[in-house]
Amino acid sequence: MATKTLKGKIGVTTENIFPVIKQFLYSDHEIFLRELVANAVDATRKLQALASSGDFKGELGEMKVRVELDEKKKTLKIIDRGIGMTEDEVDRYINQIAFSSAGEFLEKYKDQLSSIIGHFGLGFYSAFMVSKKVTIDTLSWQEGAKPVHWSCDGSPEYSIGEGKRADRGTEITLFLDDDSEEFANKGRISQLLGKYCKFMPVPVVFGKKTEWKDGKSVETDEDNLINNIEPIWTKAPSELKDEDYLKFYRELYPMEEEPMFWIHLNVDYPFTLTGVLYFPKIKERMAIDKNKIQLYCNQMFVTDHVDNIVPDFLTLLHGVIDSPDIPLNVSRSYLQSDANVKKISTYITKKVADRLEEIFKEQREQFEQKWDNIKLFIEYGMLSDEKFCERALKFALLKNTDGKYFSLEDYRTAIEPAQTDKDKNVVYLYATKPAEQYSWIEGAKNQGYDVLLMDCELDSHFVNLLEAKIEHTRFARVDSDSVGNLIPKEDKVKPEMSEEDKKTLDELFKAVLPEGNDYMIDAQNLGENAAPVLITQSEFMRRYREMSALGGGMNFYGTMPESYNILVNMENPLIARIWAEKKDSELLHQVVDLALLSNGMLKGKALADFIARSEKLLK
Ligand code: ADP
Repeated sequence: MATKTLKGKIGVTTENIFPVIKQFLYSDHEIFLRELVANAVDATRKLQALASSGDFKGELGEMKVRVELDEKKKTLKIIDRGIGMTEDEVDRYINQIAFSSAGEFLEKYKDQLSSIIGHFGLGFYSAFMVSKKVTIDTLSWQEGAKPVHWSCDGSPEYSIGEGKRADRGTEITLFLDDDSEEFANKGRISQLLGKYCKFMPVPVVFGKKTEWKDGKSVETDEDNLINNIEPIWTKAPSELKDEDYLKFYRELYPMEEEPMFWIHLNVDYPFTLTGVLYFPKIKERMAIDKNKIQLYCNQMFVTDHVDNIVPDFLTLLHGVIDSPDIPLNVSRSYLQSDANVKKISTYITKKVADRLEEIFKEQREQFEQKWDNIKLFIEYGMLSDEKFCERALKFALLKNTDGKYFSLEDYRTAIEPAQTDKDKNVVYLYATKPAEQYSWIEGAKNQGYDVLLMDCELDSHFVNLLEAKIEHTRFARVDSDSVGNLIPKEDKVKPEMSEEDKKTLDELFKAVLPEGNDYMIDAQNLGENAAPVLITQSEFMRRYREMSALGGGMNFYGTMPESYNILVNMENPLIARIWAEKKDSELLHQVVDLALLSNGMLKGKALADFIARSEKLLK
């Protein structure tokens, strides 16, 4: 018996809600497709569940969701063979629930709509963001159900009546709006399906596969399947091989180099979360892509902005997180204070630390090989996350200038005997530019010291961190003092000089040093064989200057002139000659220039003068 077509008014409070929502959600129109495909997927899975519980006894047949576009007519269909709806259900779910909840939603969030875009699916309703008219043709799975046709042109008026659909399931037809014509384009729909539906749990088909034949692209008979219904994060880690993880990485990021490690996340209490996170190969430091982690909710893409869900340093990782427990319908500021989100973030940090520690313990050689590539990430994590830092102190490595790696503990044990100073501090020596600091490094090594390599942009911060974390530890750059003074074993005996002599020495040397810097002239007894003059920079001043250059605040230090310590070795015979004369001489210029030269500070005219003077002295 044919039911008469009825007209009704959708139960929303706002007189005409469509223009409002269109305007507010302008930037995010494209999510309509995710919402409609997700509904179709849900309806399909519901029927599968009814079949497995025995409530549905019929043939399931092919259970695919089909997306069909007619570019000419500008219509887009989303078709499923799921549970379908009876007329009563359309009335309840679409006319009353879908629309009234959209009304409530608008009422509740009207002040913050723009901030929640992308986190809230508007469900079926979002079809109206891009359509001037939407129809539903549906046939319920229930025995004796009649097909239903529903139609709405974007005003709150709809019509509902008996339809013609013969196959179980639902067909939603969108008559695309003139200002949404961009969606009447195959390429655009493909792109959106790829973005939002790539891992949905039911096969989604968009047209037919094409192939090249006689120089043009022709359709084949084969369905163009756009998703992988069983992405690896849904499987048990024990079922997976390395190759599976690598393959999945290529699927996610076809243009990227192979990742270095991965972590399979899998927890179901106290929240549900699965996923796979990868450590990318960091090619160019500082030019690292963030926002490469995709967030899914039951295999439905939500966002690739996970900043509030994973700690900042982990946004350097790539991969996928899937959790139905991350609230999607709330604003970002709320997300930060949400207890579940905090737990998730703590859990992920812990898993990352566990995995790194495991690799450190079980695959030490591999860990060392990859250290240079993950160092930045780990240092960043240690600097920004207290808990991670505590964990990482166990597996962080130090690399010395000979390219050898040590754990923090092993390194301390190795250097402690030779590098403990008179105050019982263990002094870690390091170089930042081995080529430029070559002679300093050699000097330290000859003394029986080891020199670390600290050439990463975060190292000056990292050095501060280690000094704070490891008791009785001091770091000193290898050129921050004469080798004899780097690790003072006893209070040094300074040459005895009167105030007047000190002033004379000061004036003598300052007169021949390049202008523009601050100098501290410091008379020292460094031994007959040590260099006559050494130029060093205070560890403290240099480090703060570097940190302020990195944007660590402390601009006061950044704007001060460079300041250097000029160590004059009074025991060196050349200095003894200069000191006997106490006047400007070629010899004085020559020893100062040699010191400048070995620090890379002799430039321009001063360098040319030095060469000319050297040639003259050689004659
Ligand atoms: P939500 O999916 O968040 O519940 P929607 O507005 O998307 O909200 O849908 C409202 C309801 O309409 C759904 O809960 C479902 O019962 C019904 N529905 C929507 N699309 C379909 C479909 N393709 N097949 C069967 N039922 C559907």
